[in-house]
Parts: sequence; C-alpha cells; structure tokens
Amino acid sequence: MSRFLVILSSPSGGGKTTIAHRLMASRDDLGFSISATTRPRRTTERDGVDYHFLSIEQFEQRREAGAFLEWAEYGGHLYGTLEAEVDRVLAGGRHVVLDIEIQGAAQIRQRRSDVVSIFVLPPSAEVLVQRLTERASDDRESLARRLTQAGIELQQAELYDYVVVNDDLARAVAEVAAIIDAETHRTARQDGLVQTVDRLRSDLERRTNELTE
Ligand code: 5GP
Repeated sequence: MSRFLVILSSPSGGGKTTIAHRLMASRDDLGFSISATTRPRRTTERDGVDYHFLSIEQFEQRREAGAFLEWAEYGGHLYGTLEAEVDRVLAGGRHVVLDIEIQGAAQIRQRRSDVVSIFVLPPSAEVLVQRLTERASDDRESLARRLTQAGIELQQAELYDYVVVNDDLARAVAEVAAIIDAETHRTARQDGLVQTVDRLRSDLERRTNELTE
C-alpha cells in the first residue's frame, strides 16, 4: 500500500499538536515531519525533535536552495516543511504527519496528490478562548490578535478533506486514526491490486474446472 501525507491544521489552541503527539505515540505506521522554524525554542522543546530551529539566514539559504515543500510566515516567524523530511519518513514506509498552518497546507495540496488533509475544529468559541488564555500569558491585545487570526483560519476549514471536532481529545484522536485507516484502503493506494485480483480469478477458474471435469 502506498504511503501518504496527513496534514493536520487548526487555529492556534485548536489541539492539533496534541492530537499529532498522541497519534505518533499510539501507531508505528506514522512518522512526524519535523518542520524548520525561525521561532525561538520554547523551554519544553528540543531541537531536531519538535522543530529544526534555524536562524533567519539559515532558513533563507534553504529556501533559496529549494529545500522546502512549502513555507509560510506565521506570527512574525518563518515555518517550513523540508522536502527531505517528508522523503525520509516515506522511505521508512510510514505515512507523514504534518502539523502545519493553512497557507502551507494549501501549497502542499497544490503540489502533491498523495495528501489527506484534516482540519481540527474547536467545539466552541468559548473553549478556544479558554485554551488560548490558559496557554499563553498574553496581554488582552495579543489575545485579541490570536482570536482574529483564528477566525481567518477557520474560514479555510471547508478546503480540507475532513473535519474533526476536538471536544474530547481521545475521541478526536480516534477519529483521525479512523480517517487514516480508511484512507489506507483506497483502491488507488493498493499496490499490486490487479495482480491480486488476477491471481484470485485464475485460482477460482482452476477450482471451477476441477468441479466440472
Ligand atoms: P507554533 O509556533 O505554535 O509551534 O506553531 C505556529 C503555527 O505554525 C502552527 O499553526 C503550526 O501548525 C504551524 N507550523 C508548524 N510547522 C510548520 C511548517 O513547517 N509549515 C507551516 N506552513 N506551518 C507550520
């Protein structure tokens, strides 16, 4: 079965990163695409695990060398998916999970067809505001900016193949897993389907002949 790219997008605070981590921990047919970013590392993050943390110069050099499958500016920082990362995971026989924002997702959908895109919706505006307030020690102004940005991002939901509402984390993870499982069964992704069907048919023919001899 051929492997594919699983894009997870949501507004900030929508829960896609947590869903991605849970999925990665529970399945061995998935590999995470470690993005490059110019954003400063948070204390909980590890270079080369959560992100490849680059300087602006390093990022621009790679961009000019054509190393990115997509890239975007978000919240004043640059983010990009390295083509080599995607190839590394695919070469290992695993589907590639990409935790990326909407502009990058649009670029990948344009460039590749082996993509399944999933938009994670918050259950309500109240929950999103609550999650953002808990997470960041932002002042009112930057919270308002994040909420405006969330509104813009939500408008893109309809461009995705699937939508999952993250009201219950375990259920949302199970729903994304179910989407991945269903997508692995797509006819077009079955290598050697014609040969399998041919073999079944010729075996059936032989059995039929035995019965009628
Ligand atoms: P954060 O700084 O909170 O880790 O991520 C900010 C946003 O950038 C999130 O929406 C995240 O999904 C997105 N992001 C992370 N990596 C990439 C990437 O490689 N490309 C794009 N386009 N967005 C990314």
